[in-house]
Amino acid sequence: MLSKTLQDAFNEQIRHEIQSAYLYLAMAQHCESANLPGFAHWLTVQWNEELGHATKIAGFVNDRDGRVVLGAIEKPQTEWASSMAVFTQVLAHEQKVTSLIHQLYALAVKENDYASQVMLHWFIEEQVEEEKDAAAIIEQLKRVGESGSAILMLDHQLGSRGK
Ligand code: MG
Repeated sequence: MLSKTLQDAFNEQIRHEIQSAYLYLAMAQHCESANLPGFAHWLTVQWNEELGHATKIAGFVNDRDGRVVLGAIEKPQTEWASSMAVFTQVLAHEQKVTSLIHQLYALAVKENDYASQVMLHWFIEEQVEEEKDAAAIIEQLKRVGESGSAILMLDHQLGSRGK
């Protein structure tokens, strides 16, 4: 069974994952309104991924005879100055989530909870991907700029992201 300390920490992480999902859905809507449907698609896939992270942690808490209790999420930001502003924030946000996952892992080590440590390995690897993907889009945006035909090509490319 999960310790109360780890159960509370996993519940808090579920809230962070859902808050992340909500942020990406808000960013997707911003990109839709800016006529960048490919960017919107990429962020909508991201929204679904974050919901999947929350569900994965909830499943683990239940498997360990814990109790999932959902907390409140905040209203997300609704407007961004540019595509670069969106993806700079995606990267910063993922870096914050990485540090939260690392803190959870440190807690699982402190509590001698080996099953939690194994489960968190998946998230540690996932965060490497999340940061790499966001950083790659920022690099492309730096080359492409915010206007002209190049951003339409990048939009098309991001629109082909699979689930
Ligand atoms: Mg996540």
